Amino acid sequence: MAQLSDDCFAFGGPLLSVEEAQALIEARIPPAEGLERVALREAVGRVLAEDLRASSPLPPFFNSAVDGYAFRHADLVEGAETRLPIATRLQAGQAAAPIAPGTAIRIFTGAPMPPGADTVMMQEDAREEGGAVVLVPGLKRGANCRPAGEDVATGGLALPAGRRLGPAEIGLAAALGFRELPVRPQVRVGVFSTGDELAEPGAPLGPAQTYDSNRFTLLALLAGLPVEAHDLGILPDEPAATAAALARAAGAHDLLLTSGGVSTGEADHVKAAIGQGGRLVFWRLAIKPGRPAAMGVVEGVPVVGLPGNPVAAVVTFLHLARPLVLRLAGAAPESLPRFSARADFAYRKKAGRREYVRIRLAFGEGLPVARKYAREGAGLLTSLTESDAFAELPEDITAVAPGDEVRVLPFRAVF
Ligand code: AMP
Ligand code: MG
Repeated sequence: MAQLSDDCFAFGGPLLSVEEAQALIEARIPPAEGLERVALREAVGRVLAEDLRASSPLPPFFNSAVDGYAFRHADLVEGAETRLPIATRLQAGQAAAPIAPGTAIRIFTGAPMPPGADTVMMQEDAREEGGAVVLVPGLKRGANCRPAGEDVATGGLALPAGRRLGPAEIGLAAALGFRELPVRPQVRVGVFSTGDELAEPGAPLGPAQTYDSNRFTLLALLAGLPVEAHDLGILPDEPAATAAALARAAGAHDLLLTSGGVSTGEADHVKAAIGQGGRLVFWRLAIKPGRPAAMGVVEGVPVVGLPGNPVAAVVTFLHLARPLVLRLAGAAPESLPRFSARADFAYRKKAGRREYVRIRLAFGEGLPVARKYAREGAGLLTSLTESDAFAELPEDITAVAPGDEVRVLPFRAVF
């Protein structure tokens, strides 16, 4: 992976909008390099490294789309029933001989069209009578057939470089005969938590301790992305230890994620640690929750310092870490899904920042209805488990009234 210069994220402005932060990532992170070939079944979840073109047409030959009768459209009597003797049967997998004029062929889905035949009537629309088929009038030439290459023509672009390979892409590659695919090398992401108060789940909890949840949330979020994620444990609120751990981890990773320790408290050492080992570009985002998000470079490796509050960590992961991961992985940019809903709540906010209000959607007639989760704290994990979307309230508005149309980010579609 390319080494970044320490100041590649340098930005002198005030609070960044999400779009400005994302534009910075697009502009400053060089495109992914490298390529490895993996077996088709291993390729799911990876990023295609080269355009995939079809070396043969899909479907490979002209074939029947239904179970029925193949014939020459020219043999149909106009405006009346046509009776054609059935010459032979043709099933999928059987090679076809040319059709004799004035005959029909009993044909099944996926069987090649006999040369000369150009139309198929579905069996439900025809009837057999003593070795002949009776066809009703009105069928268009070419009906119920699939031309060779109608899905992908020879030489056609089946999948562009940068495409994440999901079930649909794997299926298309298989249909085109690819046994292995060129993919980008896996991006290695290391995940730290920070905080003297954090305990490993399952360990006895001291009097002022709380279990670490962010590391597990972040690793689970990364499981849906084209990366190899590594659990790097919990860092103490101690500047030298934090700086040393980041520098050490930078040697074996393409991206480091931390959570906590990035606001302005006395125990918030992540910013300083990034600055000590490389270059901090403390960018605060104009969003709530998630304002104290930091970004920097240590030993040529990008580091994203996500906020400690669990909901803020998720919101900033989606807006900063996710696009950065996709960029490093060589994947095409993917915007988060959004649609409109009707608020059934009242809400007040400050101008100048974007707010993410946890909601549950109810679908019925018209726009979905957005029902707000009762409480708003950025530390409430249940505000995520009991919601399925964020209402994304833009910078310029200061209030939402019941009945207002709001923009919704359905995070369940991304998790
Ligand atoms: P900080 O930004 O470090 O001051 O953390 C803000 C809040 O988030 C504090 O209440 C922390 O205890 C909490 N917090 C930080 N990191 C984690 C974590 N990994 N898991 C759960 N809570 C956390
Ligand atoms: Mg902390």
